[in-house]
This record gives sequence, C-alpha cells and structure tokens, in this order.
Amino acid sequence: MSDPDRTSRRDFLRTGALAATGLALAADDAFAQEALAPTPACHGGDQPTPRQTEGPYFTPRSPERASLIEPGMNGRAIELAGFVLTRACKPVARALLDFWQADVTGEYDNRGFRLRGHQFTDAQGIYRLKTIVPAPYPGRTPHIHVKVQAPSGRVLTTQLYFPDQPGNRSDGLFRPELLLRVAPTGEGLAGRFDFVLDQS
Ligand code: FE
Repeated sequence: MSDPDRTSRRDFLRTGALAATGLALAADDAFAQEALAPTPACHGGDQPTPRQTEGPYFTPRSPERASLIEPGMNGRAIELAGFVLTRACKPVARALLDFWQADVTGEYDNRGFRLRGHQFTDAQGIYRLKTIVPAPYPGRTPHIHVKVQAPSGRVLTTQLYFPDQPGNRSDGLFRPELLLRVAPTGEGLAGRFDFVLDQS
C-alpha cells in the first residue's frame, strides 16, 4: 500500500514543484485547465476573502504540519493548495495558515489536535494541506475552518466549503465565494483555493 501512496504523493509534489509558473497541482487535465490557471486567480483590486465566524471549536497552538491525516483515520483524502495573496495579487511568503475541521463523523477533537494544524506559505506564497473531507454536523454543511495571517498582518478567520453538498443550500453561513474548486486525482481529491488578504 505504501508504494502507490508514495508514488502519488511524489507525483503530486513534483507537479506542485512546477507550480511557481504553472500551478498545475493535479494530474487531471480537466482540473488543470479549468481550475488551475497559469497565474493566481487574482486581478488586482480583487475583493478580499470574506471573513467568517471562528465558531466554538478553535484551539490555539496547533502543531505545525502540512498533513492532518493520521494512521487509521477514516475519510476521503483531499489535498488543498493555493496562494495567499494581497489585493494587488502579490503572493505572501511565510503567511501563517491554521486549519481545523470536523472528522468523518462530524466531530471535532476538542481535547487534542486531531485534524488541526498550522503551516506557513513558501517563498511563492503557496500552501498545501493534506486532509480528509469533513462530514456535515447538525446545522452545518461540510467546511474547513482556517485563520490566515501575513507576517505581522491582521488575522483573516474564515471557512472553506465543498461544491455539490446538499447542505450548502440550507447552511446560513455558506458563501459561494468560499467554495473550494475540487477535482478527483489518482488517490483522492485535489482542492484549490486562493486567499486574498485585505492588504495591498
Ligand atoms: Fe465548524
């Protein structure tokens, strides 16, 4: 099992290494063409990413890690990736991203740090997070919480949503501007979202 896994992971990372110019994060052609434009999806003067409530389940001081997947964890794997940008489309290096989410049963780990982790964008302003698709829980469509902060910048707290979820229509917090672009890959799903911070 480890071989195909590792191969896919390597492929993903190698494809990702081309990202500085092409951001072809996934092998899937349709996804690459549709979702992964050669430059960040930002046009200067773009609206900043909308803020959303933190909710009751944030835990500070999460571990630094790019994968939240742990041995024995159930759920459909997804690798999120994208830029952190300013309104002027400048990639933000060393931006902090702190993610937290429910598991495949809709539960948060409020004692430990399961499905919680922070990381920093690289020199190109790119982040990558390997995790699972969270389940809905009462009143909420599936979502991933995140705080994003440029070095010494203001914290953007928001949530990311998944396309084609029935709960998106009934969840009052859902906003289409916060939808991930999701496509299947060999080993799971790839999701793309670029954050635009409210700074020039
Ligand atoms: Fe939540």
